[in-house]
Amino acid sequence: MSLDSPDPPWSDDDLSESSESFPDELAASYEVVKKLLPFIANRGIPATPKNYRLFYDYLTYAQPKINKAINRLLAKNVKFSRRVSNSLYNFFYGEEPDSARVGAINQAADAIISVSDRMTESLSSARDQNDHFMEVLTSTSRQMAGLGRSDELKPYLESLLAETGQTLASTDVFSSRLKEAEGLIASLKDDLKKQTALASVDELTRLGNRHRLRQKGPGLIRQALEAGQPVSAIIFDIDWFKKVNDTWGHNQGDHVLQVCAGIIKNAARRNADLAVRLGGEEFLLLCANLDLVTALKVAGHVRESIATAKIDRIDGGGPAMSVTVSGGVAALGPGEDMHALIARADAALYQAKNSGRNRICAAFSPEAPKV
Ligand code: GH3
Ligand code: MG
Ligand code: MG
Repeated sequence: MSLDSPDPPWSDDDLSESSESFPDELAASYEVVKKLLPFIANRGIPATPKNYRLFYDYLTYAQPKINKAINRLLAKNVKFSRRVSNSLYNFFYGEEPDSARVGAINQAADAIISVSDRMTESLSSARDQNDHFMEVLTSTSRQMAGLGRSDELKPYLESLLAETGQTLASTDVFSSRLKEAEGLIASLKDDLKKQTALASVDELTRLGNRHRLRQKGPGLIRQALEAGQPVSAIIFDIDWFKKVNDTWGHNQGDHVLQVCAGIIKNAARRNADLAVRLGGEEFLLLCANLDLVTALKVAGHVRESIATAKIDRIDGGGPAMSVTVSGGVAALGPGEDMHALIARADAALYQAKNSGRNRICAAFSPEAPKV
């Protein structure tokens, strides 16, 4: 639909000018009013009597000049402030007409539009708004009766009231559908939250995974730095794990992973550390408020706990088994990010492997003491 010559959203027959009788004219007006409501509401145009009349004429193409002027304003997204409406109104209509008919219809239309506006504002209060709508229509009906034109306006009002009754009923249906939809959306959101949480948890060990590290690691570091705290990273890798699988089977290997993960998780402080399975038989503890010396102690404690743990045989056969881990520890250096920190911890781990395994090595950084 072009802005310069809007096609009215109804057929010319609907607006036939041949209707002579007043009720028919009102019926046609009512059809226009029904289309006018969404038109005004969708464009955020204030529901004032002046705007109602302007847009009534606009939609019926009563004065092409009005369409031209309004189209220009709509195209420029001009806000239909009181000032704009007044100047348009005065320009096209001069003095505000004072006829009882226009006044009464304007009042009714104003009420309809203001209610409609509020309905679009808040779906949840649709019921209240419709009640208000009914009240306004009833009082308008009384006012019209006082104007002595009640007989002529009666069909118009009856039709409006009937339609409002239907609207109330459909609003109830709509409200309950809306509630259903809200429930569905809430449960979908909940599902999504669970799925998102699951996506960052390692299924076998229940530790966080790399995804979780990416999600939480930078924030943990940032917060610690803001609090002026040191940050350390400890990486553990099970020694000769391939042999565990080869000797006792993959399922026993899985069990070993779970036992080691449990010990590492126990060493993690609830709100300060992030325990992650980096993959395979490699684990990371990212620790806020932990300096290198203390991190080395924590790592040494974990190493010892794992080395001395008697790990059950899940096949029930034979004595318990044990494994060892090697570890690398690094403390965050100035200007360093999470990846650089982990890379240095990894280098220290490599050193621990190369120097005999079942041990912890510290990475060196300019600030960190050589341990
Ligand atoms: P190193 O002391 O040098 O670390 O030797 P390693 O044998 O531990 O290291 P390597 O990288 O050679 O082997 C790691 C093995 O871990 C190979 C792989 O099959 C096994 N693995 C990785 N993920 C899993 C898993 O989820 N379950 C089991 N059971 N084994 C896994
Ligand atoms: Mg490894
Ligand atoms: Mg290994």
